[in-house]
Amino acid sequence: MEQLPVHNSAEVVAAKKATVYEALLRLSPRLGSGNFAAIGDGDLALLFGLYDREFFDGWLASAVAKQAEKPLALRVSATMTRSGGKTTRFRRRGRDGQFRDRYEIAIAGRLLLLTFGDVDRPVVVCGLTCRDRLDALQRIMEHEIIHLAELLVWGSTSCSTRRFKNIAGRIFGHADTKHDLVTPHERASVQHGVSVGSQVEFDFNGRQMVGRVNRISQRATVLVPAEAGRRYTDGGTYDKYYIPVPMLRPVCT
Ligand SMILES: [Zn+2]
Repeated sequence: MEQLPVHNSAEVVAAKKATVYEALLRLSPRLGSGNFAAIGDGDLALLFGLYDREFFDGWLASAVAKQAEKPLALRVSATMTRSGGKTTRFRRRGRDGQFRDRYEIAIAGRLLLLTFGDVDRPVVVCGLTCRDRLDALQRIMEHEIIHLAELLVWGSTSCSTRRFKNIAGRIFGHADTKHDLVTPHERASVQHGVSVGSQVEFDFNGRQMVGRVNRISQRATVLVPAEAGRRYTDGGTYDKYYIPVPMLRPVCT
């Protein structure tokens, strides 16, 4: 772990994070402002490069180059609706019996874009209050970078361990490992008065259906009572519909 900085003072952490924030807005052809409306894989690559330079003197990229068969992949995920980010090591055994590794960091773009929108509340990521989307993105990237660093040094990683929390605290001043970004679930309940368990109405092929919301992710899963439907744990039989939340009308019960 010699290559990683031992401890950054609060002032140094704040200054480096601010440098990264300003530099990313300057370099990205897409973001435009701290509350960007779109983000691409290229922005994540820029952001990672800035962190590697500011906090690690390029150690991350060179360690990946030494250990993996490809450079780190950075990806904006449109489908992650729980985690803010995810760092993965993909491993395969080559013909020579040696392992070939690749690393990937995925960031939940959809959650970032839902946050600092019409659901107005303070947002805390890694124990730090964030002022805009870019600020929240930085916290998530920092968290994922610690996962990557642990994988590179120890071959395994978990943010529930003391070791992880300690490193995240020393390098980035993190006080926690969780995020409270706005989820599709929360937005739906704030915007449309629809949440899990709500009775809802919707039109389907010209028919008006009434059912109960069972799950909300990309769309809402609505269970509509139907004799020939599948049996659920409550004993009833239902047909399952996937409906965009704005198309649901809450029914007062
Ligand atoms: Zn984690």
